[in-house]
Amino acid sequence: MSLAYLVAFVSVTICASTPTAENLVNTEVIEYLQRYGYLKEANVSTHTSIEDDKIKEAIALFQEYYQIPGNGILNDNTLDQMRKPRCGLPDMPHQEHNTNTVKWKKTHLTWNFHLADANTLKLATYAFSIWAANTSLTFERKTLNPDILISYRGGIHTYIDNRREETICSGLFDGPGGVLAHAFPPMNDPMQSTEIHVDVAEPWFIQLNESVSENKLHLLYTLTHEIGHSLGLSHNHRADSLMFPYVTDKSATLSIEDILAIQRLYGKNQNEVPSTRSPSVTTDTRKTSTQNLCDLPYVDNVLVLKHHIFVTYRKSIWVIAINGKRYKGPLALNDYLRFLPANVSINAVYQRPSEEIVMFANNKIYMVDYPSFQLKNGWPKTHSDLNFPAEMRVNAALVTNRGQTYVIFDGDSVALMNECDMTIREYHSLKAIFPGIPSSPTAAYRYIDGSLHFLQKRQYYKFNEFTQTVTNADTFDMKILNVNCPTDGLLRQLQDLLNRLLQSNNLLEYTTEDALDD
Ligand SMILES: [Zn+2]
Ligand SMILES: [Zn+2]
Repeated sequence: MSLAYLVAFVSVTICASTPTAENLVNTEVIEYLQRYGYLKEANVSTHTSIEDDKIKEAIALFQEYYQIPGNGILNDNTLDQMRKPRCGLPDMPHQEHNTNTVKWKKTHLTWNFHLADANTLKLATYAFSIWAANTSLTFERKTLNPDILISYRGGIHTYIDNRREETICSGLFDGPGGVLAHAFPPMNDPMQSTEIHVDVAEPWFIQLNESVSENKLHLLYTLTHEIGHSLGLSHNHRADSLMFPYVTDKSATLSIEDILAIQRLYGKNQNEVPSTRSPSVTTDTRKTSTQNLCDLPYVDNVLVLKHHIFVTYRKSIWVIAINGKRYKGPLALNDYLRFLPANVSINAVYQRPSEEIVMFANNKIYMVDYPSFQLKNGWPKTHSDLNFPAEMRVNAALVTNRGQTYVIFDGDSVALMNECDMTIREYHSLKAIFPGIPSSPTAAYRYIDGSLHFLQKRQYYKFNEFTQTVTNADTFDMKILNVNCPTDGLLRQLQDLLNRLLQSNNLLEYTTEDALDD
């Protein structure tokens, strides 16, 4: 380098105006307010002073959204909030986008996480299940042209969908911190996927359990949030909402407002379990008695005994050999268990360590001898006989490997039972005892391998009580009970016919657990 050139270079460096720290903050704040929809005026540039009325108005709006005092004056709390890791979508959508509700025109949606490993796929399945549990939506992974396509992206990036060639994404990522992810609203376009982009530069924690390692970000939380956007939801200013724009230490569960918002778009879960307070009395027994085990949308209860697994759905029961190879059913519940009134379904069932079977049905508690399946003297008892809370519905019950009996109520509470006198010893939150299991599981049982299984209608969660973690989450399938359901319709009909022939002799003879051995 010649001396003359060096001198020229130095002088240029000195002459260039260096931005002051104040200017940088000014630019940062104005860019933030514009990006997240607080500042809509087009004639504002990053050189506008933050003392300008329009900017003050926008800062005041931001402070109101996040409940930070300041009256439009930029203070440390405001700046700190702006600098926290967050979703890249605006908080205040532009008015013109608000007039039309964007939603999917179908309720069965397919998804994929581009080239993800097994752990990430498990986590994504779980994230979708959180939304599915409360709506009519169903999700299925599909690698070819799915409706929703998730991918890791970094910096300025393209869409991952091959059909969009190499179009640059309208959002950009800024390395660690700042923007964590962004998603697009439902496209309803068979020619392109609705994409979710996750910033690859973030230190993601990719496990289902809630105890995040230090300095890591929970991918489950962010992904569940972004899926909310891809289903048509926008941000919510309440910190307990999954649609809150910033990462919180909250678990990935929907708030009441989230549930209402998603149900406004897609309606409730069609397979809602009927409440025991209003047992659905129907004279149409034809429908339940012809139901094939392999065609059930979900099951009400699973009871794993020594040789057999019992499955109930509404007013029917199936008896499955413990290895899953053979099964009988459907049998009418009150034919099989004659002490039960007609038209009653079972809410929860478990086997005590002393082997009796306890059933919660019809707002009563039944104590049943095993293996005779005869009702014990003095039973059933009412909830108040045993000091059970009258206002809470029992959804599920199970005995852990440690021999503790938990009764799980609708909502977030569980009760540890005292098996000596069948009373409640103490209450806990579901989260404290079974972290990672979503609210209101509809069935729970300990499987033959010692893992605890929780069902929330169609969703299935496998829980390891020793590591206190959810080890698998998926859509419930009879395969989980080792029952091999033929996928072919004709084969299924044949199997159905075979089952019918097997049990056509006399339904009532199967009154003991040996139903399959005779
Ligand atoms: Zn968001
Ligand atoms: Zn993007």
